[in-house]
Amino acid sequence: MNDNNDFREIIDEDDARRTEIDMNPQDEVEDKDDYEDVCYVCRRPESVAGKMIHIPGDICICNDCMQKTFDTMGSFQGNPMNPESDNIDFSGMPNISMINLNDLGGFMGGGFGTPMSQRLKKKQADKNAKPKEAPVIDIKNIPPPHKIKALLDEYVVGQDHAKKVMSVAVYNHYKRVASLENLVEEDDGIEIEKSNMLMIGPTGSGKTYMVKTLARLLDVPLAITDATSLTEAGYIGDDIESVVSKLLAAAGNDVERAEKGIIFIDEIDKLAKKKNTNQRDVSGESVQQGMLKLLEGAEVEVPVGASSKNAMVPMTMVDTRNILFICGGAFPDLEDIIKERLNKASSMGFVADLKDKYDHEENLLSKVTVEDLRKFGMIPEFIGRLPVIYSLEALTEEMFVKILTEPKNAITKQYRKLLAFDEVNLEFTDGALHAIARKAKEKELGARALRSILEEYMLDIMYEIPKDDNIGTVRITEDYIEKKGGPQIIMRDTQRLVEHKAAGNGAQ
Ligand code: ADP
Repeated sequence: MNDNNDFREIIDEDDARRTEIDMNPQDEVEDKDDYEDVCYVCRRPESVAGKMIHIPGDICICNDCMQKTFDTMGSFQGNPMNPESDNIDFSGMPNISMINLNDLGGFMGGGFGTPMSQRLKKKQADKNAKPKEAPVIDIKNIPPPHKIKALLDEYVVGQDHAKKVMSVAVYNHYKRVASLENLVEEDDGIEIEKSNMLMIGPTGSGKTYMVKTLARLLDVPLAITDATSLTEAGYIGDDIESVVSKLLAAAGNDVERAEKGIIFIDEIDKLAKKKNTNQRDVSGESVQQGMLKLLEGAEVEVPVGASSKNAMVPMTMVDTRNILFICGGAFPDLEDIIKERLNKASSMGFVADLKDKYDHEENLLSKVTVEDLRKFGMIPEFIGRLPVIYSLEALTEEMFVKILTEPKNAITKQYRKLLAFDEVNLEFTDGALHAIARKAKEKELGARALRSILEEYMLDIMYEIPKDDNIGTVRITEDYIEKKGGPQIIMRDTQRLVEHKAAGNGAQ
């Protein structure tokens, strides 16, 4: 009785298949279009079993099962399909169990009243995929430079010129990447050159910060390396190609992603040729030489998951053609070279300028030329491969104050958030912010000094405040920063109103 066994199997298998069926009654609320019909007998969905036959009670049966049912019945003596055998009772027959569809309804935990239990959720290719956080900027659909700059503006204070140059360079770079990818279809022979950058700016003026922000916005991998750690292959230290393996690691060993990433090489000025030496300078100059190919675009073999090559580490080829290289450095003494050149130029001719005309010029670095850099000790081939050269301004007191308060993740906002956990309101008076800015400027470490200064003043506050639940507001004043007094504390119970007013009173 093969056919009958088939039915038994179907019922047994049902148990297993039940797990696939979404039996949550809540699903009934969901859009019916999300579901597909499932055969009541064999449990195969419509997409597998083909069109369903709908019978009263919201039951669907696939063609195969329906056919099988008819065949089974047809094989009995009293053929139910035969109108003359209408009154035959099959239930008493040995080895034959007729399926009562109603019983099955209960068996499957659903019943006719819950038709959705007979439906499987349709597979939706993308809906089930883990939602990936969309990058703010999609490199295939790169927004115009002014939009890139507007995004940078949210994080980086001042440095308008640098942000502008960078936005344009990045825009062009990724257009170039896109054009190279389509080169096969439309080869007009014009190849856009790489727009690697050289960023000159005092320490702490935001060089690294800008590159980091940009890479985050573009959602491209970023590797940051210190030029001083690089040596020619064979010397002690990281060889030049290690920057590429760093990038590969940042890209999660995804070569394709790494090939569109950004490599930032800081302290590039340290690679300058030493002046007044007759010996061959192996450290700086040769590293500059070694980097030429990398900057231009070369296939390099790098170790996967390690920074140095050895027999145990697998190697992979990475093409640096589309990697954007940004070099940065403070270039001390470059100002003197620029000044000298400018003075020389202005002392010629009839109206000779005063010799010290440029001594107090704030942003001399913005007047830098390739010739100045060459004089500084960078080799011409190297500078030639960094066609986008720009400088960052030295930060002013006003900029420091803005850095303290304006960026999305400004330091004062971070401290406010920390104290908010204790339900304490933190305020900084304008005077206090300026006092912190002045102190930071004195340190000549750029914006990096801000955090260490604030840390020093916030330590006591962070230690003392949680001791007293009654403290509602802490106000950092200029006197506190100048060490002439303490911070102002406003207690919760006595000055509840003052606390609210003070919070919106322009204090940062
Ligand atoms: P460097 O120019 O030496 O690379 P960084 O970029 O590392 O300096 O700056 C140090 C820190 O100072 C950054 O992490 C950032 O928080 C802050 N910073 C520097 N410049 C700016 C700026 N223009 N806007 C906002 N924050 C800045």
